[in-house]
Amino acid sequence: MSSDATNLPTPPAAGFDGIVGQSVVIRALQQAMERDRLHHALLLAGPEGIGKATTALVLAQALNCGAGGPRQACGTCVSCGKIARGLHPDVLWVGPDPKSIRVRQITPRSQSPVPAGQTVTVFVGYTPYEGNRRVVVIDAAHTMNPEAQNALLKTLEEPPPSTTLVLVTAAPRALLPTVLSRCQELRLSRIGRDALCAYLETEHEMPADEARLRAALTPGSIGKALALDIESYTGVLEAVVECLRMTQSGGGGVVAAAETLANLGDGETATQRAASVLRVARDVMRDLLVVSTGANADLVNAEQREAWVAWAAEVDSEQVVAALRAINDGIERFTTGIQPNIKMAFERTLVQVGESLSPGPAS
Ligand SMILES: [Zn+2]
Repeated sequence: MSSDATNLPTPPAAGFDGIVGQSVVIRALQQAMERDRLHHALLLAGPEGIGKATTALVLAQALNCGAGGPRQACGTCVSCGKIARGLHPDVLWVGPDPKSIRVRQITPRSQSPVPAGQTVTVFVGYTPYEGNRRVVVIDAAHTMNPEAQNALLKTLEEPPPSTTLVLVTAAPRALLPTVLSRCQELRLSRIGRDALCAYLETEHEMPADEARLRAALTPGSIGKALALDIESYTGVLEAVVECLRMTQSGGGGVVAAAETLANLGDGETATQRAASVLRVARDVMRDLLVVSTGANADLVNAEQREAWVAWAAEVDSEQVVAALRAINDGIERFTTGIQPNIKMAFERTLVQVGESLSPGPAS
């Protein structure tokens, strides 16, 4: 397999049965395999972190499994093991190097560091070496530049027999129409909160509280739920609550609070980090709204219920709705492409939140 085998997902030991929340797509794949009518070029599309690459890897296992029968990957035979470790000679895994997939990964180029046999067009030209099918998985396929996509067209159109190509992408519309039209698109869906929770508890032996929090913070995505750094989240949550409380009493607290918030958050850019911080604030306000209206809905930060109940006694739900609106406007300022001054944008949002939450003159 290719040199970026380190980016392989870990396939579930139970094969297709171990993939959560994607039964529609998996059933379609299994039926097609059973009837020997699997499309030669598949496009697995859907949001990040829902199991697209894992599904592609298990499909590669199922197509080559020595024990699982025509529609299942046993996960334990020599072939399944080699594919899981990136060592199977009939499976080629291609991914961004480092940010995009280049033409030299698709087809040989002179003086390219990619060996010809590890390029897609050469790889598919050989009959299976020890398995049943040659399988090429192109992960993050939307990162192929146009030259790379064009180099792939002929293979997509007329792949050699016993070849299956699987394109995996969260952004199918970023692919050329000529590429899209040659693939059969299968859409994987977001995973429901309950299914995600159950998965985290059973497969990752997580305490119920933690599973619920992760599922609430990363809706629909196993990958993001597992990657979430709870400790850093809790730190941000505490700081956000403190800052929101500070604004409620008005005055000079806002400047200090904006300064604090501007140094927190997750993301590559300052605006992404700022938006992530305001999303935490939004979850806090939503929880506060649920508690203050007595609505029958799950809290994101359920373990903070007592704190929310105490806070809700100081404000009414209309105030919380106004604060929520101010926070949503703030998120929009950080996500619409214009690069605002981070601290000033935070100040503006916090002033509005403070005005919304502070005890006004009795009406
Ligand atoms: Zn197997």
